Amino acid sequence: MKSFPTHNSHIPTDYKSKHSKWIKKMLHAYWVVVIVHFAIQIGCFLLLDYDRTPADFMINVLFWPTAISITCILIASWIDRRFSSYSFYVMSLASTVIAWTIIHVNYDIRIILAICLLPIFASVLFFSKKKVWMVFLMQMSAYLLVLFDPVYRLYLSTFDTVSIPAFLILSTYVAQIIVTSGVEVLDDLQASMLAKQDLIVRNAITTKQSKTDGLTNLYNQSSFKDYYEKAFEYANSSGMSLHLALIDIDDFKSINDTYGHRVGDIILEKVSLIIQENITSSDIAARYGGEEFALLMFEQSFEQAYAQVEQIRQKLALMGHLELEGASITVSIGLKSYSPNLSKDKLFEEVDAYLYSAKRTGKNKTVTSLDLASSLVEET
Ligand code: GH3
Ligand code: MG
Ligand code: MG
Repeated sequence: MKSFPTHNSHIPTDYKSKHSKWIKKMLHAYWVVVIVHFAIQIGCFLLLDYDRTPADFMINVLFWPTAISITCILIASWIDRRFSSYSFYVMSLASTVIAWTIIHVNYDIRIILAICLLPIFASVLFFSKKKVWMVFLMQMSAYLLVLFDPVYRLYLSTFDTVSIPAFLILSTYVAQIIVTSGVEVLDDLQASMLAKQDLIVRNAITTKQSKTDGLTNLYNQSSFKDYYEKAFEYANSSGMSLHLALIDIDDFKSINDTYGHRVGDIILEKVSLIIQENITSSDIAARYGGEEFALLMFEQSFEQAYAQVEQIRQKLALMGHLELEGASITVSIGLKSYSPNLSKDKLFEEVDAYLYSAKRTGKNKTVTSLDLASSLVEET
């Protein structure tokens, strides 16, 4: 059965493998946050009227927050490299610590609160509502920890203490909606990907079915004609060797008449199997008509091609069939090589003439241009 995405499998595997890339990008973003904060603090200290002593500024505004933030990023990067399954949680924790360190050091919740949105919206990248709410809990815990600082509490109005959690909840809710719609998009994407794969497989099967013969699995006449045309053109332009053989079962009608059509079919299957087993992977074999097979051979000399079809003929002649009460069947074969003075129809007609000659002169034999030349000499 086709497995459409379930609730747990909505994230494609290749997306999961990209998590590590996103984590690295987020960690880079935190480096930028820390550096920008550092630079802004120095700028503000030099330009604005800060009510801090230089020593207090250096230690409590520059050194400690920056040291804590850098330590968090370094730990998160290390864990991402060593224990990648914890990357998300450590990255979120690191970003929470960085965000709230900056918020705390600045004694200004309103503008800098936006910083704590960074971890929440970073979690959206991971397409998991659970992760989004987990990061929300981290932000809330950090907020409560910051509230423990009585000096910081002085900076907060009653409205702030209520509006900050509300703001966090609202932002997380928005992030969760983004995740939900992202998951839907991913589901649609995966469903259409599966449908496309299904179509490709169906197409491949239909193409194979349209090219092959249902009974013998060999190529059918129309696909053989295509191959023959292409091979002939290629032989014409490149000088590649090409040999064409037509193989016809002898007295097949009497097999059908004596043993029935079903046995006739079994014999056809067996003959095609012997043909397939005795050709090379570059040869092309087809069921050309009822009990007639066509064979295109490349990359070999005429002698090799002749030996190959003779092997097929001899093996068949020696093979007894239970279905025929132990009797064997024979085939007649016409064989000729491509030569530049022949058209593709002419080559085919000549091979057909050799096959007819094999039938006329006793069957169970291979007739080639050489045989015909010698028989013409004999006749004259
Ligand atoms: P020859 O040695 O001259 O080739 O004689 P033949 O009997 O083999 O040739 P003929 O053309 O007289 O008869 C071919 C027979 O093959 C007639 C037809 O019923 C049978 N035939 C064609 N296709 C199938 C098939 O798919 N299954 C079966 N069982 N018989 C088939
Ligand atoms: Mg026949
Ligand atoms: Mg025939």
